[in-house]
Amino acid sequence: MIQIKNLSTVAAPYVAQVSHKPRKNYKPPIQRGYISGRPMLELVNVTKKYGQAIAVNGVSLSIPAGSMVAVLGRSGAGKSTLLRMINRMAEPTSGEVLWQGKSVLQLRGSALRAWRARCGMMFQQFNLSPRLDVLTNVLVGSVSRRPTLQTLIKYFPPHERARAVLELHALDMADLALQRAGTLSGGQQQRVAIARTMMQLPDLVLADEPIASLDPANAETVMSALSSISRERGITVLVNLHSLEIARTYCPRIIGMAKGKVVFDGSPKQLDAAMVEKIYGRRKSAELALAPAVSTALSSIPTGEVA
Ligand code: ADP
Ligand code: MG
Repeated sequence: MIQIKNLSTVAAPYVAQVSHKPRKNYKPPIQRGYISGRPMLELVNVTKKYGQAIAVNGVSLSIPAGSMVAVLGRSGAGKSTLLRMINRMAEPTSGEVLWQGKSVLQLRGSALRAWRARCGMMFQQFNLSPRLDVLTNVLVGSVSRRPTLQTLIKYFPPHERARAVLELHALDMADLALQRAGTLSGGQQQRVAIARTMMQLPDLVLADEPIASLDPANAETVMSALSSISRERGITVLVNLHSLEIARTYCPRIIGMAKGKVVFDGSPKQLDAAMVEKIYGRRKSAELALAPAVSTALSSIPTGEVA
């Protein structure tokens, strides 16, 4: 296994090439898509039914650019369905999803693919290729913007390789660029997944319980990486979480869901005991009040259990 100790060893040949010959129309990832104060993402009365069951029930939200928003709720509250409707992995039964005032639900073909590329998705399972090295895993993130043939033969242009190294460096991971992804810890793998997502140049990151399988220390590292992405690049981050404490610490705005509806939308300060009870039900909110530190572990009590 080759480990690279020095970032410059990895980056130098690539950075040298880009600095002499900048790609035409190359836009650095920083600040792309940032429009201060203007709502970028709007959900208008969005409902999703599966047969008779209502997963998401009349949700309306307005999310300005560069926000870091937590979506909290018990298992089955509708958090994943909500995120999936934004990038059209699930189609709403009714309602509207707008991006900068334009309907996302009308997009078809290449416009839909372009929209999906702008929505970086992250999951609890990191979805890396364990046998490929870290750098290649990150480079796969830029695939949607490159010709298919190049992808098939795993040709990655130098400027993309340089960017991949720099994305890893931003997450303190450049030293592991040539290590096989499968050998990394969960927290490291999730950071590789963040770097891969950044290669898409996303405007939005939709993270579905990205820290659910991580220990507390790794969970903090991953959340702080997501928080920097939002603050420093103006990327809107929506993150589904189980842990109340993590949401309070990292997310200036918290949306609480219960049984498909938004039952809370406010700051960590506004999220008092009564609101926590609304989101989680009485029994679980009592457990959270007694032992906030174990809130991460209390993960999957079905919605119907406390009634
Ligand atoms: P959460 O992410 O908060 O746990 P989900 O969005 O996964 O909640 O699920 C909300 C509700 O919708 C649950 O009752 C779940 O069983 C139901 N649901 C989600 N996806 C599907 C699906 N593909 N088919 C049928 N029911 C689904
Ligand atoms: Mg879910």
